[in-house]
Amino acid sequence: MAKLLEGKPIAEKIKAEIVQEIKSLQQAPVLASIQVGENIGAASYVKSQAKLAESLGVVYQLHKLSQETSENALIAFIQKLNTEKKVNGIIVQMPLPAQIDYKKISQFISPEKDIEGMHPANMGKIVFGKAKILPCTPAAVMELLNSTGIELYGKEVVVVGHSEIVGKPLSLLLLDKFATVTVCHIGTSKAGKLEEHVKKAEVLIVAVGKAGLIKGEWIKEGAIVIDVGINRVGDKIVGDVEFQEASKRASWITPVPGGVGPLTVTMLMRNLVEATKIQTQC
Ligand code: NDP
Repeated sequence: MAKLLEGKPIAEKIKAEIVQEIKSLQQAPVLASIQVGENIGAASYVKSQAKLAESLGVVYQLHKLSQETSENALIAFIQKLNTEKKVNGIIVQMPLPAQIDYKKISQFISPEKDIEGMHPANMGKIVFGKAKILPCTPAAVMELLNSTGIELYGKEVVVVGHSEIVGKPLSLLLLDKFATVTVCHIGTSKAGKLEEHVKKAEVLIVAVGKAGLIKGEWIKEGAIVIDVGINRVGDKIVGDVEFQEASKRASWITPVPGGVGPLTVTMLMRNLVEATKIQTQC
């Protein structure tokens, strides 16, 4: 039976490190959070980020813009925050109103203040193994893997999902550890080859957003399974992997919720500290 790979204990350990790091900085880091319009999802992220920020000694500045804000107005607002010396990190809350394209506006956040690690300059550094600010979800997955003590060198790692936010950057981070990385996506499924690839995975990471996509019986005996997916099924939240069946075969498996999720926002705060250090050259 698999051991549960929970995010919370690891997050607590990293938070304690963040608190110490912040104490060693000359000033408390300032996180500017932009929320455009009223949205229940965005409001709930803001609430939990603000609470975490306060507990770590981070100054959380919330900027609420109206639902009608144009893309250009938001870009101008971001550019103003880029020039404010006391602001160390900028985050734009999702979801955004329809008139705003997140991919476009995220490129206007200064790479030094891009604590989500989504700016092309920060993404590009991953290719060279030089990134200090990593996209939060891939960074969370790497922390979970690290906590198992697994040596990734030469391991068969299969990543399902190739989004810019999870699968693509994650596959580069895994390559950097000399894992043998296979990236599966919709083309793999359409070619009928997903099962074949999943079955050989010593480490399986799934980030798709389709409940039950990965059958429990596909899991290799002793594999480590990280399920990034979040799906609402009835009144329950489940991942992309059939948890019960997969647990019988895996050595470690993340619960959903409670696996990757609790670590993601912690990674955001770690990026903020890193960004502050880069800006102040500590
Ligand atoms: P995207 O929708 O951007 O990406 C999903 C990926 O899955 C795409 O690469 C897509 O390929 C691929 N895909 C779709 N259908 C299949 C299939 N049948 N077989 C194989 N691959 C398929 O989602 P995200 O990457 O943003 O998120 C993925 C999941 O992770 C979601 O459930 C999301 O809620 C969750 N998530 C959880 C986080 C956490 O903190 N726990 C953080 C971020 C995301 P293609 O694009 O070619 O169709």
